[in-house]
Amino acid sequence: MTVLIKGAGVAGLAAAFELSRRGIAVEVVDAAETIGAGASSYAGGMLAPYCEREAADEAVLTLGLSSADWWEEAAPGEVIRRGTLIIAAGRDSGELDRFAARTRGYEWVGGNAIGELEPDLAGRFERALFFSEEAHLDPRKAMAGLYAALVERGVRFHLGSADLPSETSYSAVVECTGAAAIATTSGLRGVRGEMLFLETSEISLSRPVRLLHPRHPLYIVPRDSHRFMVGATMIETDDDGPITARSVMEFLNAAYAVHPAFGEARLVETGVGIRPAFADNLPRVLDHDDGFAIAGMHRHGFLLAPAMARQLAERLCGAKHPPFCTSPSFRQGAIQ
Ligand SMILES: Cc1cc2nc3c(=O)[nH]c(=O)nc-3n(C[C@H](O)[C@H](O)[C@H](O)COP(=O)(O)OP(=O)(O)OC[C@H]3O[C@@H](n4cnc5c(N)ncnc54)[C@H](O)[C@@H]3O)c2cc1C
Repeated sequence: MTVLIKGAGVAGLAAAFELSRRGIAVEVVDAAETIGAGASSYAGGMLAPYCEREAADEAVLTLGLSSADWWEEAAPGEVIRRGTLIIAAGRDSGELDRFAARTRGYEWVGGNAIGELEPDLAGRFERALFFSEEAHLDPRKAMAGLYAALVERGVRFHLGSADLPSETSYSAVVECTGAAAIATTSGLRGVRGEMLFLETSEISLSRPVRLLHPRHPLYIVPRDSHRFMVGATMIETDDDGPITARSVMEFLNAAYAVHPAFGEARLVETGVGIRPAFADNLPRVLDHDDGFAIAGMHRHGFLLAPAMARQLAERLCGAKHPPFCTSPSFRQGAIQ
């Protein structure tokens, strides 16, 4: 049985990994010339189940707890386990209490401990929440590592064309097309996420830092080469046009509030990704024309793709008489 995965974002790559490790032959097709051409390339890469619980269902926490281990196995060396630090300006200190009340897995830390965790933030904040169990990764590097591992395992990629490979008949198709599925999937909507990269050697951070604010919360995720990913807006639209001036201003103001050194940083890249989401903001493995779809990863693609990929593999391998094997429409050329 050969399974075709449509979409080489984080959902498609994770699905390919879970199926190929079960001995299933997998091919991946993506309309773009490269892997990770959709929202996945703009993600913060935070594997932060406890922090996300503040605004998400309990399922996000339980499904996301094993995510860092999965990534360590799938893309060895890419997971950074240094936790998450949540800070707020003195006048917004109540936001920390509000955040803490909505989740768990943290310890309160005072000014000295903040300075020990992040020396460049010493003396700037009086108290913070530290989630020591959380992790992060660089999405572009992690996806590159996953891609290399998949090629090594014999997964074939067909990049740069929406045309399906003609030489194979597939026993199932798995749609992992991200925001492109909004047009065809009932209940799926787009949530626009804007972000930017700053570059400066004047400050270093070891872990994602989230600055709470009543209107403009932001996070900063350190990357290699003195880069910092700053994000992200949550706007109810599937408009993927360029980042707005307002969002850039708000990000830069907030980054400056974290540390004035960000005022001298170079703004080296901006980006926009559309997060596909259902009404409850939880992802799903859906029955689909000739197989399945993984849809609605919302703001948890890296956190929850491993769990969705496992669910997919269990459904694909566990079904005794899967409809996709018997469907007469499931023939080469019948795939849309
Ligand atoms: C600014 C921002 C920050 C984020 N931060 C985080 C974070 O810190 N942690 C986290 O877990 N998540 C985060 N997310 C969410 C995460 O990025 C998304 O949930 C995830 O990228 C969705 O992945 P996907 O594979 O479903 O879709 P995509 O990454 O969009 O991939 C879809 C792929 O399908 C391809 N495609 C589309 N149509 C077709 C077709 N017809 N045939 C073939 N291929 C097709 C596209 O080219 C694309 O490569 C963030 C998102 C944004 C925008």
